[in-house]
Amino acid sequence: MLRQYELVERVKAYDPDANEDLLNRAYVFSLQAHGSQLRASGDPYFSHPIEVAGILTDLKLDDETIVTGILHDTIEDTVATQEQIDRLFGASVGRLVDGVTKLSKIEAQTDSERQAENLRKFLLAMSSDIRVLLVKLADRLHNMRTLHFIKSEEKRRRIARETMDIYAPLAERIGMYGFMDELQELAFRQLEPEAHATVVARLAKLREGGGDAVARIASGMKLLLSQKGIDAEVTGREKRPYSIWRKMQGRQMNFEALSDVMAFRVIVDDDSECYRALGVVHGRWPMVIGRFKDFISTPKRNGYKSIHTTVLHSENTRIEVQIRTRRMHEESEFGLAAHWAYKQGGDGARAREAYPWLNDLLEVLHDAASPEELLENARLAMFQDQVFAFTPKGALYQLPKDSTPVDFAYAVHSDLGDTCVGAKVNGRVVPLRTRLVNGDQVEILRQKRKAPDPAWEGFVVSAKARAAVRRHVRQKTLSESQSMGAKLLDSLGVRLKISLDDELLGPALGRLKLADRPALELAMARNLLTDAQVGEALVPGSTAGQKPRKKRGKPGPAAVSIHGLTAGVAFELGACHPIPGDRIVGIRHAGQPIQIHTIDCASLAEEAGEWLEVSWGAESDGAVARLMVVVHNQPGALASMTAVLATHNANIVNLALKHRDREFHTDVIDIEVDDLKHLTTIIAALRQVKAVVSVERMRG
Ligand code: MN
Repeated sequence: MLRQYELVERVKAYDPDANEDLLNRAYVFSLQAHGSQLRASGDPYFSHPIEVAGILTDLKLDDETIVTGILHDTIEDTVATQEQIDRLFGASVGRLVDGVTKLSKIEAQTDSERQAENLRKFLLAMSSDIRVLLVKLADRLHNMRTLHFIKSEEKRRRIARETMDIYAPLAERIGMYGFMDELQELAFRQLEPEAHATVVARLAKLREGGGDAVARIASGMKLLLSQKGIDAEVTGREKRPYSIWRKMQGRQMNFEALSDVMAFRVIVDDDSECYRALGVVHGRWPMVIGRFKDFISTPKRNGYKSIHTTVLHSENTRIEVQIRTRRMHEESEFGLAAHWAYKQGGDGARAREAYPWLNDLLEVLHDAASPEELLENARLAMFQDQVFAFTPKGALYQLPKDSTPVDFAYAVHSDLGDTCVGAKVNGRVVPLRTRLVNGDQVEILRQKRKAPDPAWEGFVVSAKARAAVRRHVRQKTLSESQSMGAKLLDSLGVRLKISLDDELLGPALGRLKLADRPALELAMARNLLTDAQVGEALVPGSTAGQKPRKKRGKPGPAAVSIHGLTAGVAFELGACHPIPGDRIVGIRHAGQPIQIHTIDCASLAEEAGEWLEVSWGAESDGAVARLMVVVHNQPGALASMTAVLATHNANIVNLALKHRDREFHTDVIDIEVDDLKHLTTIIAALRQVKAVVSVERMRG
């Protein structure tokens, strides 16, 4: 375990201005907080955060990040509180520690590829500061290094699986290949112990035959390059068992044919040297067709730059060669972390706030060539239009921003959506219109044989939920119209004292040019045919002399139609006097007409009925608004006011004097208006009247 002074010295080595006091205090605090806790290895628990901090010093990260590494488990695993961390180490460190603590709480099933991808995105989105993610990755790396101490095989496998599916790809995403390699290697050993052992054994066998082939080939290559005037550092290594294994799987290769197990890195000063070195290598050894890739001229999406090639070094030895500059090398090992370290070293500035880091990151992203590339690289910003939520069992779903429990239910399964009647978010029952936020756990309450509520259409945001609700609304409207039409036809039959049998209906349908009885009923329900027309068709001459009946209006205030309520549903406008243009909701109590209220109506606070999403229909052409007007107590005041109302076509329905004293009188006026715009114009005009002191719209 790193000692206190060793850790401080490591940081000081690359950042002389690092806050020594902060580091020392964090060390002591963490030591005391973790106290006598032990790791599975039998080591003091405290060794873990210190090793994590040590890994972070390899990335040359700033003192706040190192301190976060030291403190990263104190809130989760000790009695230390967030307030303590904030107070003792500052808000900035507090935020970082909080971020890591939150990430550590995320555990999800990763049994499918899609789940894994969602979880990776979620972790990125939750890392409001990329340093949070770096600490989390360092934490995971150290846990993987000490994985073999954990006794339960099931637990080891779970952690290894998660590392393989989530954390290694995340490291790759932000360009940290060093981390990625090691995480994959450690996970591979746990997940596929036999495959791992086989590859290792084969490598040992190859080594026997060739002596120290790696060192020999590396020094030969370095010599060749220097003869051609290129000063290069050449390092070689055996490929990691995992990468060999994966390659074999991908190509259905036989172990015996395995000749491609060594990889070399040629590190030179600048880009043009890279190409010169490539020329030298290809000039000396034949290149293997299809293995040459130039990521310098076309970097990978995560910013990775290097030249890759494979050459035939001897008859049965292929070697992979990567050629890159020193900077490209560090960036490929440490990814975005390296970008940051460079920036710090370059101008010597200290980044104490989170923003300079963010700026650096944005700069990196700014250089991205395409939107897709940005998407690959970016963290928070790209997920701002997404929200991630869990099922109670931990499966993770990615939804569009502003999604509700209904969207969530449909994302899980359309059947769950259709039968959804309520939801619990994080254990609490919430209205179905509640907007979900990142990390919410959603439990859908369902009822058999329930159907989607038409009102959902007003708040769901996902395409799947929307389509399902619309489909259902169409069907429901149709069947409601159908049954209403059937009743209309029956009552017409009763009025005409006829029996609606085929004998009578057949010719009538022919006269009306309709296919069948349901078509007739539908036409009646939709007011396409009047009773008189149908009666005439059924019994010609029967309606002669009768006055045509008045067209049936919709229930409720005749002038208003409300969408979201299916045909034939009765409604009433509430005491808040909603008018077309207002945002409204419907409240349903069993056996009563639906009450329509403005969305900000005070009575809604204690409303116990069922909330329905409704909106004004296109045919809405008027409702009554209530105004409270304070007027100077002077002759002609009222007359000038009513004159204004008249010129604006606002019919006064009711006028009541509410209060009068020597100076003012207060009137409550109900006026018929077309819509909100009309009302706004009227209020503005009234306020222009000299005698008028104030005009306010009254709600309830
Ligand atoms: Mn930890």
